[in-house]
Amino acid sequence: MGKIALVLHGGAWDIPPDLVEPHRTGMQKAIAAGWKVLQKGGSALDAVEASIVVMEDDDTFNAGRGSFINAGGEVELDASIMNGATFRAGAVAAVQNVRNPITLARRVMEKSENVLLVGMGASRFAREQKVKLCSQDDLLTLRELDRWRTMQSDPHFKPKDAFRKKRTASDTVGAVAIDKKGNIASGTSTGGTPNKLPGRVGDSPIIGAGTYADNGIGGVSTSGWGEAMIRVVMAKTVVDLMERHGGDPEKATQEGLKVLVRKVDGYGGVIALNARGEIGIAFNTPRMARAFMHTGLREAVALV
Ligand code: ASP
Repeated sequence: MGKIALVLHGGAWDIPPDLVEPHRTGMQKAIAAGWKVLQKGGSALDAVEASIVVMEDDDTFNAGRGSFINAGGEVELDASIMNGATFRAGAVAAVQNVRNPITLARRVMEKSENVLLVGMGASRFAREQKVKLCSQDDLLTLRELDRWRTMQSDPHFKPKDAFRKKRTASDTVGAVAIDKKGNIASGTSTGGTPNKLPGRVGDSPIIGAGTYADNGIGGVSTSGWGEAMIRVVMAKTVVDLMERHGGDPEKATQEGLKVLVRKVDGYGGVIALNARGEIGIAFNTPRMARAFMHTGLREAVALV
């Protein structure tokens, strides 16, 4: 049996001290869910989905319930998933009324001929596929309503500031796994940036920017200022760097961040895992919620 491994992120930003513990607990639950799948011999795709669903359901994170509210007062969600064995991928963007967008992204990958569905079309596909729908209210939390009200009265707020200069939450979630067959999968899910323009789509549902997986090299998921991540095609850039550095995920994530800063002055964090099940994590925000587990460890590590 090859080495199985799982790495997660739960957002890269200036997580305030009182939110550190909820993040750690949330990451622990999420890694336990994904690890259980891998340990039983389940697929990397199932593990990625299981971990992300736990984080989408936990309102600590900006994904699923607890997501940011856009400038129009609505929650629009983005998610993507990729199978490194087949290069198939599925994603949804600016979708409403879906409780677990990662599950919907997986259905796009497996039950349609397409890669990316947006808005109304994505919601309609969810209904057809019997993916759990919900009301906007089910996704809203008091914390986000308060944040939204405050932001409506701050005309100078820029989404970019969310990741470093201010304590504004980001909290996108993501996972990368390798299973016992050596298959690699990656996924990412988010509510985007706070007070984003209605219809705004970030990096998370863009294959190559927020998510990428290639069994021959490794997988990546990103979190951070999405516009910058898109401009440097961050996830694929890190996979390419891994290939260039003999599969070294630490070197690749660190160099990827340097590219992000040098070329587009970006902020955020990135998780990576290679075909040997080795893990790399790098971020240039004050904190990043992250967790990992592999066959060489006695128990999962969750750090914030
Ligand atoms: N990357 C996400 C976006 O820009 C936000 C985040 O990672 O927190 O939509």
